[in-house]
Amino acid sequence: MLILISFIYFSYLIIKLYISYNEIRFVKNALFLKPQILDEKEYKKAGKYKIINEKFNTIKTFFDYALFLMWISWGLKFLEKNLIKEDSILESVTFLLIVLFINYLFTIPFDLYATFKKEIEITTIDKKTYILDQVKSLGLTVIFGTVLFFTIIWIMKNLPSWWIWGFLVMFSITIFINMIYPTIIAPIFNKFTPLEDKELNSNIEKLLSRVKLKSDGVFVVDASKRDKRLNAYFGGLGNSKRVVLYDTLLNTLSVDELLAVLGHELGHFVHKDIVKNIFASGSILFIMFAIFGNLPDTFFSSLNLSSSSHMTIVMFFLLSPIILFLWMPIFGAMSRKNEYKADEYGAKSQSKEALKSALLKLAKENSSFPLSHHLSIIFYHTHPPLVDRVKRLMQ
Ligand SMILES: [Zn+2]
Repeated sequence: MLILISFIYFSYLIIKLYISYNEIRFVKNALFLKPQILDEKEYKKAGKYKIINEKFNTIKTFFDYALFLMWISWGLKFLEKNLIKEDSILESVTFLLIVLFINYLFTIPFDLYATFKKEIEITTIDKKTYILDQVKSLGLTVIFGTVLFFTIIWIMKNLPSWWIWGFLVMFSITIFINMIYPTIIAPIFNKFTPLEDKELNSNIEKLLSRVKLKSDGVFVVDASKRDKRLNAYFGGLGNSKRVVLYDTLLNTLSVDELLAVLGHELGHFVHKDIVKNIFASGSILFIMFAIFGNLPDTFFSSLNLSSSSHMTIVMFFLLSPIILFLWMPIFGAMSRKNEYKADEYGAKSQSKEALKSALLKLAKENSSFPLSHHLSIIFYHTHPPLVDRVKRLMQ
């Protein structure tokens, strides 16, 4: 079984490498051609950034594979031998938190490089903010992880067909976290201040009222303390929406462009994309619980592992990237279709030109290369490449 699982993971690695190889070759070739959409300097910079990114991800993929082999060949056995004495829920939860923590420790060097080195021209974060972010995310992971693991392990030990109940709990917690994210979790990391510009405020109100939504306040978030990326989003369920604008967006876009971007986001609401996304994530989560909830005992015994609740959850963590990878072409296709429709809506609510120039500024500030190899698009893109979006917009 060890050989079979390693082989499956290895095939996943090879496919990922093949996609990256194609993407790098594609971008290198594209850089020889006439710049598309962006001006020459931006185009070259975005291309260079894309290639660095792909190479970085390739190294990370190899590293993840090594970490996976470490866990599956002896790490899990070693930890279980030293930690699990009575097979209590508390021991199992501790086991899972330690596995997560060790994985986290191993990924720190990559994260440091990605934050302070690789994205040197995009990130603006200072060391203090970075360390505070890490401490806060660790704290939140421990709190939510403990609650989640306790509940799921209790269910596993006490209920028949536990995976159905486990799925329902996990799905509810995911929805709950999404609900409290804009008002409780996001403010832990960023400062939200009400938008002072009265005119823009009333323009946003007007935009919302056209689709019978109310504003629950327009806030500016200090995203520029981390990087230069531009973004805006709507939060909250029901008819009143909390509108969040990145300060980077406010500083870079004109009023027309900003309203076009909000029009795009509003398009997602009008087309019920948020609900569709929740359903899509729910269905893959259900499939994953169905798989891991029905792993035969021989699966674990042939790996020399116990078929315990904590081992089942660890397998879920270790193998879910492969399932998500196979799922991505379906989810990505749906998402890219929704993006085109949201663009259409944004263009209608403001103007094609405003949305187009906003998209160009977004690409420039995010240093995103406007083209991509088709395999990369299929497996990784939730948004269509910029060239295609602009083309479709201008039809
Ligand atoms: Zn969108």
